[in-house]
Amino acid sequence: MMVEHALASIFYGCCVRCGGTSLRATCSRCATAAATSFVTPSGLKVMSLGLYDGPSAPLIQRLKYGDETLIATRLGSALARILPPEWRSTSLVPVPLHPERLAERGYNQAALLARSVGNLADLKTQAGMLFRQKETSAQATLRRAERAHNLAGAFVALPASAKAPVLLVDDVVTTGHTVDSCRIALEAAQIEVLGVLACAVARSTSMPIPPETKTE
Ligand SMILES: [Zn+2]
Repeated sequence: MMVEHALASIFYGCCVRCGGTSLRATCSRCATAAATSFVTPSGLKVMSLGLYDGPSAPLIQRLKYGDETLIATRLGSALARILPPEWRSTSLVPVPLHPERLAERGYNQAALLARSVGNLADLKTQAGMLFRQKETSAQATLRRAERAHNLAGAFVALPASAKAPVLLVDDVVTTGHTVDSCRIALEAAQIEVLGVLACAVARSTSMPIPPETKTE
């Protein structure tokens, strides 16, 4: 893991949050910056590194579509920094890809992110707990009302032996319907979801948390 971090620093010498020069994943200014947060339609709190139009967007694209899996180490180390104290005794559940998509891409970027955060924050990653059983149309091409319907029954969770609460991990959260659908599946298996950790949230669809409930 330490070797991975060193390599990621050499290859990607920029802060994942502001894009400034930084050997560490976050520069000294961003290391203590507040997370960008919003709540999903079902009321799940999402903590992210910033908006999807920020400096992390090209990194996320390269991680997802460019086989540059080392980027997950760098983004994961920035995510571990924004983990709120109340989320530090959970395990991490990456939002799964459909098996066909996973076979095409060869890896699930959300699982790589979860493993990186887990290694740094000493949290277990439970990649085998949640499955995507339905390949859904690309959410971005659907109207808002169609998105929730598109995802109905898309995920299924295995009953857990330990009922400890979990955090969902994903690269980008847009409307929040995907993570809400994961939550429904996990709660059906009696697994509580405390929140979501994501690299970025989309500006156009995010609903800011009212100031009085902000934790940072
Ligand atoms: Zn920065």
